[in-house]
Amino acid sequence: MIPVTRRITGLKPTGHLHLGNLLAAVRPMVRDQDAVPTVAFVADLHAMTVEHDPAALAELTREAAAIALAAGLDPRRSVLFAQSQVPEHAVAHYLLESTATFGESQRMIQFREKAAGQDSVRLSLLTYPTLMAADILLYAGAGATVEVPTGDDQDQHLELTRTLARRFNARYGETLTVPRGVRPSAGARIMDLADPSRKMEKTNPAPGGVLFVLDPPDVVARKVSRALTDARGSVEYDPLGRPGISNLLAILGALLDRTPASLAGAYASYAALKADLTDAVNAAVAPVQRAYAEIRADPAELEATLAAGAQRAQALAAPTLAAMLGRMGLRAA
Ligand code: AMP
Repeated sequence: MIPVTRRITGLKPTGHLHLGNLLAAVRPMVRDQDAVPTVAFVADLHAMTVEHDPAALAELTREAAAIALAAGLDPRRSVLFAQSQVPEHAVAHYLLESTATFGESQRMIQFREKAAGQDSVRLSLLTYPTLMAADILLYAGAGATVEVPTGDDQDQHLELTRTLARRFNARYGETLTVPRGVRPSAGARIMDLADPSRKMEKTNPAPGGVLFVLDPPDVVARKVSRALTDARGSVEYDPLGRPGISNLLAILGALLDRTPASLAGAYASYAALKADLTDAVNAAVAPVQRAYAEIRADPAELEATLAAGAQRAQALAAPTLAAMLGRMGLRAA
């Protein structure tokens, strides 16, 4: 058997996909899909850890899948599916819940942050990192190696995944390959335009702070022109001292494949930088938006693509799940 290395990326449909998702997750996945077998899924189960609207979840799931396709993910070469359509994920989640502990789940920083100050916290918020472990480890059976592109905010969850894989193997016999994290080469974390101290995020953004992949050109222009900078006037890259202007340089750098510091010298004013950034964002999203409109014009085709992707994912995941069930005594060995 030839050992395979798969790369796994999940997109959480808790809101509209934004430029950070496109640059750090979707584009690298599309770029590398010929070199590395790619498993991409819309993590719709993960979008239910907080109060959610079922109709919005269904729509955002299709939006995220269609954006991945529009950006160039090839559903014949890569595996693209909605997580909930592959029931192996939910079953493997339960098996791993029976290897993880309450204490280690409760120690997850994101759980603490998201649960802080809430009267009512869904149990799924606590166990979401264990579902993430299942999402990854299902593709790490039968000698397959898995790499997971992660930002630093997911490092703790990936470490839990590695711990659970080792624990499973030690307790029940060698079954799962311990996955490894890789940093996306686009690297830079994109910050909120209106509040550059926080990450650009789908949920609860500052008004005007998030550039969505589907924003029309005038909305991009307005958001960029209102992006928070400072009163210094000069354009230099200093993320700690001058986070606003540095974020604009970082976004432009990611779009043009240049380092932010090398771009800084080219600008004498904020206005000139903002004008170029507006053009660069619109140039990057325009072809994605055109392809997206075509894909959404044929809903039956999109459903068929997702269903075919789910079947292919199932073919990869089912043997791993069967091995896990057998090892745990849930099937005749
Ligand atoms: P999520 O928003 O959790 O679905 O994230 C999907 C992917 O996009 C992950 O790989 C994240 O690391 C990446 N991502 C999300 N927000 C940002 C951001 N502000 N800057 C760069 N990458 C991001």
